[in-house]
This record gives sequence, C-alpha cells and structure tokens, in this order.
Amino acid sequence: MTPTGPVVVVDKVSRRFGDKIALAEVDLVLERGVVLGLVGKNGAGKTTLIQHLLGLLRAQRGSVRVFGLDPVSDPAGVLGRIGYLSEERSLPGWMTVGELMRYTAAFYPRWDSVYATRLCDDFRLDPRQKVRTLSRGQHARAGLVAALAHRPELLLLDEPSSGLDPVVRRDVLEAILHTVAEEGRTVLFSSHLLDEVERMSDQLALIDGGRILLTGGLDKIRERHWRITVRAGGTPSGERTLIREGDREALAAEFERSGNECVAISPASLDEIFFARTSDAEAS
Ligand code: ATP
Repeated sequence: MTPTGPVVVVDKVSRRFGDKIALAEVDLVLERGVVLGLVGKNGAGKTTLIQHLLGLLRAQRGSVRVFGLDPVSDPAGVLGRIGYLSEERSLPGWMTVGELMRYTAAFYPRWDSVYATRLCDDFRLDPRQKVRTLSRGQHARAGLVAALAHRPELLLLDEPSSGLDPVVRRDVLEAILHTVAEEGRTVLFSSHLLDEVERMSDQLALIDGGRILLTGGLDKIRERHWRITVRAGGTPSGERTLIREGDREALAAEFERSGNECVAISPASLDEIFFARTSDAEAS
C-alpha cells in the first residue's frame, strides 16, 4: 500500500466521563515522518486522546482516522501498523524478556528480531530475566522494545520517559525517535515535561482541560510569540509584562495606539508561552 495523506486526523472529538469533560472538540492532524509531542499536565486528556487513536475509546462526537481508517470499526487494519507503549506498561510478569519478545512477535508479521535483539542489548536487558523482577526503568525499556521492534508506521508512546533514567532518556529515547522519523515513520508521544518535548519533537500540541490550546511546528510557535513590557501612564509603576502572539511590529503598534508605551519586546520562551496559555495563567 502506498501511504498518502496524514497518518492521523482527529476532527472535533469530544469525550466525557460522566460530567467530566476529558476531550473538548479536539482537532489534530499528524503528517507522516513527524515527531509530535503532546504536552499537558496530569489529567489534561493525553491518555484519553491516545486511546481514541487506538480505537479503545469511541469518539462520542467528532471523528478519528488513523491511516485513513476508523480505528474502532477497523482495528485489524489499524493496530498492526501501530506500536504502542501504555502509561501503565502492563507487561506479563511471569514471562522472561526473551519470551515477551517472542510472544509480541507473534502478533506482528513484520517483527524484526535482529532489531529487537539489538535494542535489548542497547538497553542492557537480559533476555533470561523475568519481567516481574525488572526494575521500573528496565520495565519501561522492555515496553519500548516491544512497541518498536515491528517497525510500526505510527508509534504512540504514553509518557515514554517516565521510569527511564536521564541518560537513557536523552541518549537512547531521543535517538530512537529521530531514527523513526528519518525512516518516514511517525511518532506521537505524550509528556508533561516541556524541556523534553522541546528537545525531542518537531511539532507540539498543548492540551489543557481536554482542549488543544496550541499546535504546530516548534520553530513557528517560537517565532510568533513575544514577551512585551508595556508602560501605561508613563510611570514605571504602570509597567506590565505580557505574552502575545502575532507579528512583532504589529503588536508594538497596537499597544502604542492604545496609549501604552512599549518598553521592551523579546522572544518569549516556550515556558512563558505555555504558562500564558493554560489555566494556571487565568488563575493567577
Ligand atoms: P496523566 O498525565 O495524569 O496520565 P492525562 O493527560 O493522560 O493525565 P487523561 O488520563 O486522559 O489525562 O484524563 C483526562 C481526564 O479524564 C481526567 O480528568 C481523568 O480523571 C478523566 N478520566 C480519564 N479516564 C477516565 C475514566 N475511565 N473514567 C472517568 N474519568 C476518566
């Protein structure tokens, strides 16, 4: 099959659990070969969105397409092409690492056992060790190998770095994601760590309270957000610093027109952009 079109299209998807809104009119398009970081606080809706992509949850409103298919009505067409690492990493404890690999391989015709062995070596996983005796970090690595070794077209990783030590996070996980993208495959990973998303992804989607507040290429996002210090009434006590999106000159002109003096404009950091966009900012 020649792959064409976006790998993921989420169109106005909403989801409630009782009266709790987990997703609200979420739109997301993921093109082939992109690494997208889905970033948000605990409870923001990241896992719920990933579960929709896997067809584990049906959209109560809106639609989800993965490889152009509905993952709920066509799981066979979708799941074999996805590698998934769940947040709980629920791996069978009674198996050895080697058995886990052979067991997982049975589900995937394209399982690459040479690659699986290499990844286990890279991760210093002993194939004879029982899964239940693995440390948290080793458990996380075993889950990653199981998600990766069939070379899926789409890799969905729910908080992949949780449980990994900083060296594995930086050196191994980052390298894996870049290789996957270079091979034209696609990655969506969730995280609550902004610096990690900044380092590892080409694109990001900021989710908060079930809403996507910001999405797009990292460079584009950075280029269009400014930290602006304005002074009202000509006194330093009237100074405020704001984060605004738009064209630098146009924003400055707009503030001047409304009677504020623009004291300084500089590029905003991703931290500042996120804080300004989320409910934390509204609360303060
Ligand atoms: P975390 O980083 O803590 O895993 P998350 O961003 O993945 O958070 P979700 O697990 O998607 O967030 O949860 C979104 C919201 O939906 C939360 O308020 C959560 O309590 C609620 N929720 C998720 N699953 C269920 C469920 N099965 N039943 C009831 N509420 C749920």
